[in-house]
Amino acid sequence: METELVRTGQGEGGFTPKEEETLRRAGEIIRAGGLVAFPTETVYGLGGDALNRESSRKIYAAKGRPSDNPLIVHISNLGDLEHIVSHVPEEAVKLAQSFWPGPLTMVLPKAAAVPYETTGGLDTVAVRMPSHPVARRLISYSGGYVAAPSANASGRPSPTIATHVIEDMSGRIDMIIDGGEVGIGLESTIVDLTVSPPQILRPGYITGELLRQVLGPVETDRAILQADSTQVPRAPGMKYRHYAPRGELVIVEGTGQQVAAWINRQVAADHASGCRTGVITTGERRRLYQADVVKCVGSRQEEESIARNLYLVLREFDQEKIDRIYSESFGEGRLGGAIMNRLLKAAGHRTIEASKEWEQDT
Ligand code: AMP
Ligand code: MG
Repeated sequence: METELVRTGQGEGGFTPKEEETLRRAGEIIRAGGLVAFPTETVYGLGGDALNRESSRKIYAAKGRPSDNPLIVHISNLGDLEHIVSHVPEEAVKLAQSFWPGPLTMVLPKAAAVPYETTGGLDTVAVRMPSHPVARRLISYSGGYVAAPSANASGRPSPTIATHVIEDMSGRIDMIIDGGEVGIGLESTIVDLTVSPPQILRPGYITGELLRQVLGPVETDRAILQADSTQVPRAPGMKYRHYAPRGELVIVEGTGQQVAAWINRQVAADHASGCRTGVITTGERRRLYQADVVKCVGSRQEEESIARNLYLVLREFDQEKIDRIYSESFGEGRLGGAIMNRLLKAAGHRTIEASKEWEQDT
C-alpha cells in the first residue's frame, strides 16, 4: 500500500482552503474504511472509523497490536457521546466540563453502536475529545467517531513527530498528516467511571489531584504502580511491556550528585568491559557525565519539556549502538507520576538507589 504524506499547520488560527481540502479528503478516507495518522495534543494517533468493525481490525493489523487491547474512541462534539455510551453518569459530565477538549479519556458503558472489535471485546468504551485543531477537524469530517490508538508499531514508543509515524507506518496505512510536533508528548490520562470510586487506569497530564478537585475520591489502579504486582492492570494495554530499548535501560534514583557519581563509576566499569554507554539527563546536569552518548531530555525547570521529549530520546537511543543506558529519575514534579510510569515500563522496572550504594561506599 502506498502511504500519502500531507502537511498542515497546527490549525490554531484556522485552516487555509488547501488544508481544509486535505482534511476533508482525509475524513473521506476514514469514512470509506481507510486509516489516517494525525496529530493530537498528546501523541500522534492512528485513526479509523470507530463504528466500523473492519476499520478496527485494520488498525490492529497495521500496528501489530494484540486485538484484546481496546481502542480509544475520539469525538469532537459532546452531544455525540450519547450515541456510543449507554449511560452518561454525572461524573462524566463534570469531567467533560472541566477537561474536554483535552488529554483525558473516560471509560464508560458502551452502547450497541460500538462494535466489540473496537473495545477489544469489552462492554465498556474509552472516549476522549482531543483539543488539537487538526484532530478535531478530521474527526468531524470522518463522521464523528474515530478510533485512534497511538500511531506507533506495537512495542515502540508513541510518536511525537510525523517522522516517527513514517518510520513505523509507511506502507501500512492510507495517509499520514504531518501537523508538526505534538504539545504534551505522553498519552492521555485514562479514568474508569464504571467503578466507584473512579479509578485512574493510566496516569497522564491530567493528574489524580486535578480529578479529585472535580470528583472527590479517585483511586489509582494498584497494578500499574508496582513492578511486582500480581494483579492484572484494568486497562488491558497497560499489561504489555510497552517498549524496551535495544540497550538495557536502568533508572538511577538519588540526589543529583549521588546519581552522577554512581553512573560515572558504572560507565567506567562498562567501558573497561567493552560496553557502549548512554545517559538520559536534563540540561541542568548534562555536564556531569562522561558516557559515550549523553542525551538531554529537557529541563528540570520545565518538566513539560521532559514529557514532550521522552519518547523522542528513547527512539534516538535505538539508532545508536548503545549497550547500557542509565537514566536519571524525573518523579518530583506535577507530571512525575506520568513520566515515571512510561520510563519504568521502558526500563522493565529496573531501578537502582544510588544513595544506598553511596552509603555502603563512604
Ligand atoms: P493507546 O490507544 O495506544 O493510547 O492505548 C489505549 C489504552 O486505553 C490501552 O492501554 C487500553 O488498554 C486502554 N483502554 C481502551 N479502552 C478501554 C476500556 N474500555 N477499558 C479499559 N481500558 C481501556
Ligand atoms: Mg499506545
